[in-house]
Amino acid sequence: MRDYSESKRVLVTGGAGFLGSHLIDRLIERGNEVVCVDNLFTGSKSNIAHLIGHPQFEFLRHDITFPLYVEVDEIFNLACPASPIHYQHDPVQTTKTSVHGAINMLGLAKRLGAPIFQASTSEVYGDPSVHPQQESYWGNVNPIGPRSCYDEGKRCAETLFFDYHRQYQIDIRVARIFNTYGPRMHPNDGRVVSNFIVQALKGEDITLYGDGLQTRSFCYVDDLIDGFLRFMALAPKAEQTLSFPGPINLGNPVEFTMVQLAEQVLELTGSKSKMIFQPLPADDPKQRQPDITLAKTLLDWEPSMALGEGLKKTIDYFETKLQTFR
Ligand code: NAD
Ligand code: UDP
Ligand code: UDP
Repeated sequence: MRDYSESKRVLVTGGAGFLGSHLIDRLIERGNEVVCVDNLFTGSKSNIAHLIGHPQFEFLRHDITFPLYVEVDEIFNLACPASPIHYQHDPVQTTKTSVHGAINMLGLAKRLGAPIFQASTSEVYGDPSVHPQQESYWGNVNPIGPRSCYDEGKRCAETLFFDYHRQYQIDIRVARIFNTYGPRMHPNDGRVVSNFIVQALKGEDITLYGDGLQTRSFCYVDDLIDGFLRFMALAPKAEQTLSFPGPINLGNPVEFTMVQLAEQVLELTGSKSKMIFQPLPADDPKQRQPDITLAKTLLDWEPSMALGEGLKKTIDYFETKLQTFR
């Protein structure tokens, strides 16, 4: 019989995606066994190709809107398309993934008595009227717009996580993730960092939406994953059982306008691309910056990678990726 004490067996849904594949690398590195579940909607086998055949790694092609019966000690629920063009491609499936997916993964956590981490999002704050955003802010979200399938899906998933916690004492870890970037982003998923880098490398125009003065705060992927692992390792103290101190914001609080981001990308790539201005998409938040006081206090966590350094690593990745496509 298998000796379960040797190391924890961890389920990562959305494990073939950008964040999931980095998380899996870190889990494998520290000795965990990993079950990666993904339907490969936006994820890619190339993100996990280096792990195929690894004795600590197992891949299951599965859609989490359907029940899943596996035996694991911990669950990280990351499955969900994350970029606007991907999650708006099939909005009903996006809501199903967040809501039915959460129910199935929480049912799994309940049967196993396993702690479960939820990749929630800063989008639960919508177009925020409070700045920077603290976890206590309830948000300003349009329930019927083109972004709602994602925003409201993630909000409903949070509701389910907290109700499973209150009703069944499930050990939950809900992280509200702010914009994150790094190697293994999709070259054509429409997110701003990948768009600007790919455009700069190809010598195409840099597309700024609106006046380019809207802000975002960008966290490098390695910093974020460190936050995930610290959050999961946080001991559920007895006094926290009834009033768990989540959700927790994870992101980099240094805020940039999209024009500033474009300028940095142009400088680091040495590209001659021009900036052009295009219409702002519907419901596009004007500003976003995490208040990470809670993460600093509870997890002793804050990002350490400066935007310029993280962009260099991401540009290197895209340079190689674009060469292999040629
Ligand atoms: P991604 O698109 O690269 O990864 C998502 C993965 O989930 C993909 O591999 C996809 O194939 C898989 N997936 C989608 N629907 C599924 C389903 N029904 N069943 C099984 N697998 C499914 O996106 P990412 O950037 O790695 O995001 C991962 C998680 O983090 C998402 O839940 C996202 O909402 C959240 N998040 C990401 C960011 C960010 O900046 N990257 C910010 C906030 C929240
Ligand atoms: N579920 C799952 N894997 C499990 C246990 C449950 O996918 O190991 C699913 C199950 O299909 C159910 C959902 O999780 O629809 C919610 O489970 P819960 O126990 O809360 O609800 P119930 O089974 O009572 O409807
Ligand atoms: N954006 C832009 N040009 C692009 C892609 C995005 O100016 O080519 C803007 C977009 O309108 C938004 C910001 O960059 O204001 C961040 O967009 P992204 O889709 O990366 O993330 P989100 O809007 O989900 O935070």
